[in-house]
Amino acid sequence: MPTPAAPAAPATPSASPPGLIQIRNLAKSYRRGDQHIPVLLDIDLDVAQGEFIALMGPSGSGKSTLLNLIAGIDKPSAGTVEIGGIDIATLGDGELSDWRAHNVGFIFQFYNLIPVLSAFENVELPLLLTGLSARQRRERVAQVLALVSLSDRADHFPNELSGGQQQRVAIARALVTDPTLIVADEPTGDLDRSTGAEVLTLLEQLVDELGKTIVMVTHDPKAAARARRMVHLEKGVLVDELPPTSSDMAKATPPPTPPPTPPSSPTTAPEA
Ligand code: ADP
Ligand code: MG
Repeated sequence: MPTPAAPAAPATPSASPPGLIQIRNLAKSYRRGDQHIPVLLDIDLDVAQGEFIALMGPSGSGKSTLLNLIAGIDKPSAGTVEIGGIDIATLGDGELSDWRAHNVGFIFQFYNLIPVLSAFENVELPLLLTGLSARQRRERVAQVLALVSLSDRADHFPNELSGGQQQRVAIARALVTDPTLIVADEPTGDLDRSTGAEVLTLLEQLVDELGKTIVMVTHDPKAAARARRMVHLEKGVLVDELPPTSSDMAKATPPPTPPPTPPSSPTTAPEA
């Protein structure tokens, strides 16, 4: 550390109000044989509910590692990641996958659709981990496919869809359980400029119209500019954060009690 650190009491490390995501003194390292590889060093970050934040940085700077820690697919070496007041390192493996199934939607660079399943079936997949009936699942899938303007492609297989359409199917899949948080790792990285722009517009809509919180990894400054706030990673350290504008702050102000899963969520509905 360059300067003597402040006492352990949690300071206010960023300009954003406390909210959905609270990361404190987060460190992650990997072990390879007897080699110890530090990847994230001492990360503090707050993300309010309803924010759209871009995580930028060169290849290898730790962006995906940080995103995976936020999404609960990896565990910290030190420090804490709290989402909606839950320190996710305290959850057991079963609890964690259940928590993820209800609270986090994932969007990947190469869509990660299952080739032998139709668009409809790909979107339905996360709902199979919930207690919804077949009819409730059908209704919910139809709803989110309409939201991404792909109702007329429900029976198509991934190889019958363009890259942009496949990514919209993947966005529908991320949304289907009505998670509070959506994490996206280079969601436009495999798309041409104009198709990528359409996907970004859709992500903006999820924030503005559905109140989703999005953490998006990208190394494309044009994509990052569509987010409401950018943070930069350099060699595992967060550098120069650009605060959101005051109007974005107003939009991002969390409701009085931000529940990890909204009450309207279909995933909390009992079996019909
Ligand atoms: P980015 O997404 O910014 O390109 P990553 O988070 O994927 O970077 O990786 C950051 C660093 O951590 C890289 O040097 C990478 O090789 C290393 N790393 C990532 N995952 C592992 C792992 N499972 N085991 C060992 N090293 C890893
Ligand atoms: Mg990456």
